[in-house]
Amino acid sequence: MFISPRYNYPAQFGESIDSLMSDLRAMLLGGKYILTTEVRDFEESFAAYNGVEFARGVNSGTDALVIALLALGIGRGDEVITHANSFHATAAAIDLVGATPVLVDADEDTYLMDVTQVADAITERTRAIIPVHLFGKPTPMGELLKLAKSMGVVVVEDAAQAHGAVIDGRRAGSFGVAGCFSFHPSKNLAAAGDGGAIISDDPELMEKVDQFRALGQRAQNEHVEVGFNSKLDAIQARILSCKLERLDAWNSARAWVAERYRSGLAGLPLSMQRHDPDEIHVYHLFQVRTKHRDALLKSLVGEGVDAVIRYPTPIHLQPAFAQFGWKRGQFPVAESLSEELICLPLRPDMEEGEIDYVTSKVHAFYESVV
Ligand SMILES: *Cc1c(COP(=O)(O)O)cnc(C)c1O
Repeated sequence: MFISPRYNYPAQFGESIDSLMSDLRAMLLGGKYILTTEVRDFEESFAAYNGVEFARGVNSGTDALVIALLALGIGRGDEVITHANSFHATAAAIDLVGATPVLVDADEDTYLMDVTQVADAITERTRAIIPVHLFGKPTPMGELLKLAKSMGVVVVEDAAQAHGAVIDGRRAGSFGVAGCFSFHPSKNLAAAGDGGAIISDDPELMEKVDQFRALGQRAQNEHVEVGFNSKLDAIQARILSCKLERLDAWNSARAWVAERYRSGLAGLPLSMQRHDPDEIHVYHLFQVRTKHRDALLKSLVGEGVDAVIRYPTPIHLQPAFAQFGWKRGQFPVAESLSEELICLPLRPDMEEGEIDYVTSKVHAFYESVV
């Protein structure tokens, strides 16, 4: 029986732990904590990695979304469109800046924003659309960007689950006016605590981001906005720089694990997020969709498999958003995904034996139900 940790942090640091620790020691003793060269270095390499001009580190992925929206001047009276099956933070960020989240449903096959519903959701108050590259699959951006442009609204990408994903030859997060990332320890690129980043090609927007992450300061003690205090810690930036070098290799390993799952599970009465040939899906999560979700979860957990449910309650049914009056039945795909998806363990360091163990336990479950 496999009882593996959900995230293998020793494997993430590998042999670089010793040089990293000596750098961190020097930073701790030297008082290099806030917006140091380590932060600028990481921001530069993260921007270059994503093929954009600028990146700015902030406290979390949620803050990245909040600060991007604030920097765009989005707030009270504005509407922002996203989809009902994302993680809570996407809609929360819209609400936190005082704007109104407007939801569309997910696509049956990709589990991403159903772009065909977006045009009908746009009103004269719409300012932005936030597609989420959910579970590591990049959202097709062409049609969405065209629609946004024609309607005079911007696209902000929630790329918190998609560091390194590629579609149409470009990185997820680099298409919209801004892309928002999380470095929460669970993500494909993980800090040792909370962290996030905003990427963009727009220098004026980045100037606003600089202000909104630093109490609205334009220059020291000159506060031109009421902002947050939300800066990526120097120590986290140093750790992230060390890991960024291996992100592509990890993402390839994730795709290899996913491919082995796909072939191992072929023929069973379950479905998976569609994989398109022109994309790099970075498999933040490997989701399987089944009518027998809860029973399968119980069975797998009983066999020592670290299967989990993400996310059991869609955004429109969360008590936090009761004020928006969304009803059960309003976003049927999001609801059925919340009832039918089960997340199988996936780490870049997983070996064949562990993957095949999981696959064999899924097969054993289906043999027991038919
Ligand atoms: C993790 C996540 C966030 C929020 O990031 P934090 O760093 O946890 O604040 C936002 N959106 C999505 C889709 C996420 O998965």
